[in-house]
Amino acid sequence: MTWSLEPSGTYTVASLWRFIDETILPKTPVGAWQWNNLVPGKVNILAWCVCYRRLPTRVNLKNIGIRSLTSCPLCNIVEESESHLLTKCQFSQEVWRSVQKWWYMLPLLFGSLNEMLQCRNLAPGSDNLHQIQEAVVLIYIWVIWKFRNDRIHSNTIKSFKTLANEVQVHWFLMGEFGILGDVPNYSRRAFGVSLFHRVDIC
Ligand SMILES: [Zn+2]
Repeated sequence: MTWSLEPSGTYTVASLWRFIDETILPKTPVGAWQWNNLVPGKVNILAWCVCYRRLPTRVNLKNIGIRSLTSCPLCNIVEESESHLLTKCQFSQEVWRSVQKWWYMLPLLFGSLNEMLQCRNLAPGSDNLHQIQEAVVLIYIWVIWKFRNDRIHSNTIKSFKTLANEVQVHWFLMGEFGILGDVPNYSRRAFGVSLFHRVDIC
């Protein structure tokens, strides 16, 4: 018996996810969502929800008729949309800046949600590097969303530095099940250099 999704006939998880991407998952507003097999399925599914603007943010809940506050639970200043929560919120931006320092990046902020979700395609470099940099973004999204829920339901308070540390912790915890934990410092520097080049081409 051979695996028809690989030319070699050998089963690989990557080929299965590629098949799901191309045949099952519908197109998203930012193009076909590509499963990132460096992070767990729950993290990919959350990102998929972000792509479709399906997160139960306060603005989305209001739009479907569920009475709710619309203010962002992290800053209490602006309405909580996906775009605001993940790219525009002052608190989230501080978390991302700290993550960037860890990855030796220049202090660049994503201009839009689409730009964040397409980060895999924005910077030059190898496919492996692209997947790694996207994995960082996906873990950041996971940490922000989890904290946002804890903030609403348990009134949890954390600093942006604590959350940035949680991004690192999740990175290494997930690495126990994959390759993330094996990514050494020089690769993080390469990621930073990659984004540095992005400054030149923009
Ligand atoms: Zn906010």
